[in-house]
Amino acid sequence: MRSHALTRSGAVAAFAVGTITFAAGTIGTALLLLAFFISSIALSRAGKKRKRALVDIGKAGARDAWQVLANGGVATVALLAWVFLDHSSSASAWFVAFAGAYAAATADTWGTEIGTLAEKPPRSILTRKPVATGLSGGVSSAGTAAEIAGTVLIAVLTPLALILALPSGSPLIMHEPVWFHLTGVHIWYTLIVPVFAGGFGGALVDSLLGATLQARRWCPACQRECEVDQHGCGTATVHRRGLPWLTNDGVNLAATVAGALIAAFAWSRLQ
Ligand SMILES: [Zn+2]
Repeated sequence: MRSHALTRSGAVAAFAVGTITFAAGTIGTALLLLAFFISSIALSRAGKKRKRALVDIGKAGARDAWQVLANGGVATVALLAWVFLDHSSSASAWFVAFAGAYAAATADTWGTEIGTLAEKPPRSILTRKPVATGLSGGVSSAGTAAEIAGTVLIAVLTPLALILALPSGSPLIMHEPVWFHLTGVHIWYTLIVPVFAGGFGGALVDSLLGATLQARRWCPACQRECEVDQHGCGTATVHRRGLPWLTNDGVNLAATVAGALIAAFAWSRLQ
């Protein structure tokens, strides 16, 4: 069976996000989207057989529009604000929010994809009790290391993305050589540190919401908790705890909002 990365609605949403992102800052802004998207697709293919056996989460299927927007929607809105409020001409809180949202989405995706491959079962971020592999709110050392690696990737690409996204006549590029911006120490604390904080903070919000408020359901046939409305065994599930409407997509959306806000706040404090 040929596996698809996106459903039809997911492909439409991804096309819209991709078009806006490229239009906003050409290859510069597209760089962060592609780093998130390509690494997510590649990691989701690793250990495919093992992931298909995870019956408690809706991870095996193709990404639909809600999943695409939960990961890329906040970043795209921040980017539109950068274009219309800052005229795409400078480093600003909006640009850093855009990068912070993708850092959070990348951290969460890497953490989940790598975490589900680990042999040891994850533990709840709050109670430290073992939880079923793949369930939200579970953390493992492998998953956390992957979250950090994903965040670092987006954070270190952010200065390069900004330089490539700025128009060539931009004051930032005119006043100092590009090379200085890419190697200068100030890049570390004005761009990389805020985006890293946003990514890691967003992933933390994801785990905390996943362990507390996210809807948790119950499969009567398997007698186990899950987070999908039809369990992997084919049985309909009933709501058991958490907010009934807060799905994994809702939690991912909240994580990218947190990533954008933390990154923008940290950036403004470092100016
Ligand atoms: Zn079941």
